[in-house]
Amino acid sequence: MLDADFFRRWMTATAAAVDREADHLTALDSPIGDADHGSNLQRGFRAVATTLEKESPDTPGAVLTLAGRQLISTVGGASGPLYGTLLRRTGKALGEAAEVGEDQLADALRAGVDAVMALGGAAPGDKTMIDALVPAVDALGDGFAAAASAATEGALATTPLQARKGRASYLGERSIGHQDPGATSSALLIAGLVEAGA
Ligand code: ADP
Ligand code: MG
Ligand code: MG
Repeated sequence: MLDADFFRRWMTATAAAVDREADHLTALDSPIGDADHGSNLQRGFRAVATTLEKESPDTPGAVLTLAGRQLISTVGGASGPLYGTLLRRTGKALGEAAEVGEDQLADALRAGVDAVMALGGAAPGDKTMIDALVPAVDALGDGFAAAASAATEGALATTPLQARKGRASYLGERSIGHQDPGATSSALLIAGLVEAGA
C-alpha cells in the first residue's frame, strides 16, 4: 500500500529530477517554444517541496492536491495549470484514504490525465505531455518501472511529430524534429514513482 509518505517522496524525487534536468528542459523549449520550461517547472516543484515540508498533509490525496495547487499558483505558462490539474485531479480521485493501492493510483492518474486532455484539448500524437502520460498510465498495471519506460519512450517518440497544441504548434511543420519539453518533463514525473517506491 502507498501512504502519504510515498506521495511526498514522489514529489520530492520529481523536484530533484527537475532541478537536475532544468537546463535540458529549457534547451528543448528553445527551438520550439520560449525557452522557459525548465525554469517554470523548477520554480513550481521547488515550491511544492517547500510547501509539503511546511504543511505535511497526511493523506495521499491531500499531498497531491496541495502539490497541484502550488504548481498552478507558481508556474507561469501553459504547463503550470496543466500539471496542476493533473495532480489535483489525481489527488481528488484518491479521496481521503490514508493508504491506497497501486491499482487505485493507476485509476486516479488516468482521471488526472483525462482532465489534462479536457483542459488543454490535446490528444495523443499532438506532441505534448500527453504523449508521455497516456502510455505511462496504460503501462502502470505492469508496475512503476514499466510506466517510467513507457513515458520515456513516449517522450522520445514526440521528435518526428508536428505539434498541434501549445506554442510549438505556431511553428507548423518546423516543429518536426524536436523532442517536446513537456513530454520530457512528464517522463521525469513518472520516473519519480520508481524512486519513491524504492
Ligand atoms: P509555455 O509554452 O507557456 O512557455 P512551458 O514551456 O512551461 O509553457 O510548457 C510547454 C509544454 O506544455 C509543451 O512542451 C507541451 O508538452 C505542454 N503543453 C502546451 N500546451 C498544451 C496543451 N494544450 N495540452 C497539453 N500539453 C500542452
Ligand atoms: Mg515555454
Ligand atoms: Mg512561457
